[in-house]
Amino acid sequence: MTLFSVYQKLLNQYGPQQWWPADTPFEVMVGAILTQNTAWTNVEKSIARLKSKRKLTAQAIDRLQHDQLAELIRPSGYFNVKATRLKNFCHWYLAQGGFETLNELDTASLRHGLLSVNGVGPETADDMMLYAFNRPVFVVDAYTRRIFSRLGLVDDAIGYEPLREKFELEFISKRKQVNEEARVAHYNEYHALIVVHGKDVCRTRPRCEKCCLRRQCAFISDN
Ligand code: SF4
Repeated sequence: MTLFSVYQKLLNQYGPQQWWPADTPFEVMVGAILTQNTAWTNVEKSIARLKSKRKLTAQAIDRLQHDQLAELIRPSGYFNVKATRLKNFCHWYLAQGGFETLNELDTASLRHGLLSVNGVGPETADDMMLYAFNRPVFVVDAYTRRIFSRLGLVDDAIGYEPLREKFELEFISKRKQVNEEARVAHYNEYHALIVVHGKDVCRTRPRCEKCCLRRQCAFISDN
């Protein structure tokens, strides 16, 4: 089994996911910070509260008092830490000139810039890269590591960057000619499918009897 054949099986099982669930690129970026260490349903509540108070803009978040912002995003947990991170991010975002200016940067420079913001780590930056800026960067999360190490396709101690590169290189090597648009579409769909599978089936206590990958899974044969 290869990383690419897993993609095909997950796509057959769950169908296209059409991510990211947001109305604007800025909403994607806010969601990427709010979703750190919490379920998406909690993020949705915080986003709805920000929208209802007309505070879902970089300018509004930058101007809000920390405590006011923390109260608005309370449903997504770690609200004091996330308020600081959101304000850091929005301050940086505005100082850079906002979406249009950032979108003119090449992919490496944009990723480097996002990673320079206090509170934006590789997974958060790559969520933004892929789903807000449509850049061909694969997103690695805890589900990715868990599913693919159980399948026996990666070492569970593999670092973030080598794992990201492994997914990106395998897709590129499958295609003689692959343009940026096709890479973005593939990474977008694959990460979304991994999240669905990790959340519903390959959980901490896996539901292997329901799994479309069980015939090839090393975890099954080892247990
Ligand atoms: S068979 Fe079980 S351990 Fe393997 S990927 Fe499926 S749910 Fe996860």
